[in-house]
Amino acid sequence: MLQLRHKQVLVVGLARSGVAAANLLLSQGARVRVTDLKPADQLKDELSQVWGEVETALGRHQVGDFLGADLIVVSPGVPPDIEPLRKARAAGIRMLAEVELAFQFLPGPIIGVTGSNGKTTTTSLIGRMFEEAHVAVAVAGNIGIPLTRIALEPSVREVTSVVELSSFQLEMIQHFRAHIALILNLTPDHLDRHGSLKSYALAKQRILLNQTQQDWAVLNADDELSLGMRAEAAGSVCLFSRRPLQEGVCVEEGQIVIRQKGSTTSVTPASEVAMRGGHNLENVLAATCAAHLSGLSLGAIRRTIRNFKGVEHRLERVAVHDGVSYYNDSKATNVESAKRALQAFSRPVVLIMGGRDKSGDFEQLADLVKERVRRLILIGEAAAKIAGALGSSVPISEAENLEQAVVQAGRSASRGDTVLLAPGCASFDMFDDYEQRGREFKESVARFIDHQESGH
Ligand code: ADP
Repeated sequence: MLQLRHKQVLVVGLARSGVAAANLLLSQGARVRVTDLKPADQLKDELSQVWGEVETALGRHQVGDFLGADLIVVSPGVPPDIEPLRKARAAGIRMLAEVELAFQFLPGPIIGVTGSNGKTTTTSLIGRMFEEAHVAVAVAGNIGIPLTRIALEPSVREVTSVVELSSFQLEMIQHFRAHIALILNLTPDHLDRHGSLKSYALAKQRILLNQTQQDWAVLNADDELSLGMRAEAAGSVCLFSRRPLQEGVCVEEGQIVIRQKGSTTSVTPASEVAMRGGHNLENVLAATCAAHLSGLSLGAIRRTIRNFKGVEHRLERVAVHDGVSYYNDSKATNVESAKRALQAFSRPVVLIMGGRDKSGDFEQLADLVKERVRRLILIGEAAAKIAGALGSSVPISEAENLEQAVVQAGRSASRGDTVLLAPGCASFDMFDDYEQRGREFKESVARFIDHQESGH
């Protein structure tokens, strides 16, 4: 086990995970310093949750702190290539991702989930399957509690952890081992940060890094890059697919089935998946692989598939009014997820897109938009770029803000239509994050409907 007593440890990034990491380090007798680019007055809450004495370097990173540390622990949102980390690496200072620090203290099985899209949904779904089966589980990572917090609690650290893994964390892992590793899909998101699809794929592939023969890789047979990871798997592979497979979890004649060693077990009709969209079917198939490999009962898997309605801000049904349905997919922050959202509807859609561009190729939406979208309403910095890419496919208007976009959308929609927020962009030009954008969408929809009902 990692020896931390009296070691000088620097924690980089003081959000939830940084706080939990600091507490774990303190519990092991380390001397802890925390650093964050945010100034102290914006970190009061976080600092109040640290259980012991720590030194702080807030508002900026000081290279000296990095070079003077015996060990550096890096939080999930911190890019591994920031200048002070590069200098520390060059100086040979030991560095651990937050999940890796936690891993040293976790004797229980680990299910790791990565991919470009669907991580949170699939991680939650697996967690729910365990709960439904009454098997103890900890759901950790972005969506749940930080993995280091789980490592702190003796009663939970023995149980299975389902961990959503960011590519930043994966880039840094050295010994972290997922007993079941899911790579859901790989599409060109975050290319602005990772440079090329290849280096992005290499980062995701690291989830298989320390696997042994006893471990499992869960891969998407319908996704070329995920399937390609097969060659890297040291253990066994469980494939999932929306089409029939010889072996794995797949859809066959409308049934979700588990095919294993020549026998076929029927799980449930695909039409009973409670979440909308082919992409969510893929998430269900992936989660079924993980749950089945973990020995959960078929009944628990089946009940979860039929009842789990999805996670907030992911193709979330917000309201139905005058025959128009309103869906919030604020988490569709890249072109691929916006595309998947659109594919989930067969009736006409009034689509709200825009925000901060992440080098998205909007032209790839042209055919789908032409086929399904009645009107496209654009907001934010990327409006002009999207209008350029899709202007010849669909009537377009621009709105000053999200509230106005909702009003325009509601007015353009006819009975049977769907109003869909699937921005295909990040939110940071107008909002704190995608969650705030999603909440504002929901509030705007509620106000629009109230207004209609009061006869204005
Ligand atoms: P992540 O945690 O990887 O960002 P989420 O579950 O939060 O994934 O979903 C992110 C966005 O991608 C949402 O807009 C959601 O509707 C969409 N999405 C979910 N699952 C998939 C999938 N398997 N493939 C493509 N898009 C997906």
